[in-house]
Amino acid sequence: MIVIETISDLTAQIAEAKSKGLTVGFVPTMGALHQGHLHLVQKAAAAADLVVVSIFVNPTQFNNPDDLLKYPKTLEADCALLENHADLVFAPATTEMYTRVESKKWDFGRLTSSLEGHFRPGHFDGVCTIVQKLLTIVQPDWAFFGKKDFQQLAVIQALVRAEGMPVSIVPCDTIREPDGLAMSSRNMRLNHQQRQDALLISRTLHLLHDHKDDCNIEQLLDLGKNAFTPASGLSLEYMAIVDALTFEPVEDKAAHPHAVILIAAFVGDIRLIDNIELKWADTLAKKTA
Ligand code: AMP
Repeated sequence: MIVIETISDLTAQIAEAKSKGLTVGFVPTMGALHQGHLHLVQKAAAAADLVVVSIFVNPTQFNNPDDLLKYPKTLEADCALLENHADLVFAPATTEMYTRVESKKWDFGRLTSSLEGHFRPGHFDGVCTIVQKLLTIVQPDWAFFGKKDFQQLAVIQALVRAEGMPVSIVPCDTIREPDGLAMSSRNMRLNHQQRQDALLISRTLHLLHDHKDDCNIEQLLDLGKNAFTPASGLSLEYMAIVDALTFEPVEDKAAHPHAVILIAAFVGDIRLIDNIELKWADTLAKKTA
């Protein structure tokens, strides 16, 4: 495994691999790596000859400067985790990626304007700006993204379509702790009590999934939102059930056979997100009938 800091070194390594006919799998990350990231890297290794992982805490996607400041940075441990799994680790300085630290503007309708786009203004502009740069530099055959960031994945798919980029985006399942908490770099910042409180997010998602066929949408959202009492230790930012492709809010289940319920909540000042996909039993039955 080689750790690279400059675009020119990275492109030279990739050009050499491509000249030998090797395929390239790419996993963009912001570091503070955990088993969720490693799952993506293993998927890349199963698909491609050369596995490239980027570690770059992208300043333009942080709408909250304090969140950027507190984002964990653990490059040495990250490289130890990636050893034997990745071939190239690209860990550039901010100045290598940006001459001016600013984003282009991107508009993919509801995908960029709703939920994360609404509550984190400019976030997806930053995400699309850095992902476009990285995909242009790495030129991978496949790029791997987690469903943990379900809306981000939908935005990236729209970006790649809009820009005609010759890369396949591979969605990867969310990896969870044994008790259900979705793995996240931000979990490192939770204290013992907050770690316990945070479980409410995944428990609520699973509860709603259990009731997806015996409740209507309004009942499901009421059931979910009522779990976030003032005593829960969590402050709910949003809970929504939307079409998994368009992010249109679901009112009529039959019109949206593939939906997703998404939650963003604060535990103290730590913002966590999670989601679960929903496929209604009656629409599934109709499809297979
Ligand atoms: P991040 O470092 O948070 O920007 O995440 C880098 C990539 O890892 C993104 O595609 C995330 O969706 C993915 N990822 C983060 N956490 C998980 C997880 N628990 N399971 C699967 N993928 C994840």
